Amino acid sequence: MLSNHPIDNCAHAREDAGALTALRARLPERTLVVLDGDIGVTAEDPTKLAYMQPSQWSRLNDLPRTLLGTDQQYVYWAISLQTLLADSQRPHPLSPSTRVSAAAAAVLPTPMAFRSLRELLPCLAPSELHLAALARQLVHFQERHRYCGQCAHATTLAKCGFQLCCSNLDCGALFFPRLDPAIIVQVTHGERILLGRQASWAPGRYSTLAGFVEPQETLEQAVIREVHEETSVWVRDPQYFGSQPWPFPASLMLGFTAKAISSDIHCRDSELEDARWFSVREIEANAVSLLPSPQSISYQLIEAWYRAQTHADLPSPSRSHHAR
Ligand SMILES: [Zn+2]
Repeated sequence: MLSNHPIDNCAHAREDAGALTALRARLPERTLVVLDGDIGVTAEDPTKLAYMQPSQWSRLNDLPRTLLGTDQQYVYWAISLQTLLADSQRPHPLSPSTRVSAAAAAVLPTPMAFRSLRELLPCLAPSELHLAALARQLVHFQERHRYCGQCAHATTLAKCGFQLCCSNLDCGALFFPRLDPAIIVQVTHGERILLGRQASWAPGRYSTLAGFVEPQETLEQAVIREVHEETSVWVRDPQYFGSQPWPFPASLMLGFTAKAISSDIHCRDSELEDARWFSVREIEANAVSLLPSPQSISYQLIEAWYRAQTHADLPSPSRSHHAR
């Protein structure tokens, strides 16, 4: 899971200049580069993160950087390459397919490629996945809050990138990284589990149902509403299972289990292309093409149901597809 890693986030050093100086004096530094939501990887091997060091790029020490944490061997930072480009050189926010531009490449002292976090999911160890995901999520927040929502002045990084401040002293508005809570739920009826699929997913792929929590709604209410909205199935007694940060771009997945009290399925909104009840035998027969990524909480929810039914491990699916 994306939360299983040994990185210390160094929260104590974000506002304590002395502690940050001591940390930087004790350990060498590595900096990840983020561009347009993608993470810098080495030009030779696109499965390896590219770490910039001050000895390679003296300009690093002067750039606004975001403190990602330490593994007690290095201190890790992130920078947004977009902050180094003029507005006219930036990838257009409405063209998400835009990749590294010639202008961005010209800024870097060494060649580097950029890959999406989804592409890197199956390639990276838990620590590196955490660093890349945190870098992407915080840079995403910073890039979308470049100007104050109250007075439209520029914002500046504070607390080592975990906060933005309006530069207009008469305003002083503060902005914090956005998190979008979403429930994801293992719905069971007798010995069967309810899974659905979106039309955009790979053929045959199914996953547990999920949806965003609405204002003034409890997590339990969100579980009951979402399942009924998407499938017409009513559930009762949602029980908390566990959670997982999901930085696409800023979700926090809150896992639940729930028992269905009706079984007729009717996909009522346009979100799901199909939803159906699966037996243990159907899951076993189609595990490779059917199941979501093993890194996802959806997989963990299905795995917990499968173990309870069979007392055996779930057949492992391909690790190369996109996760929910
Ligand atoms: Zn302001």
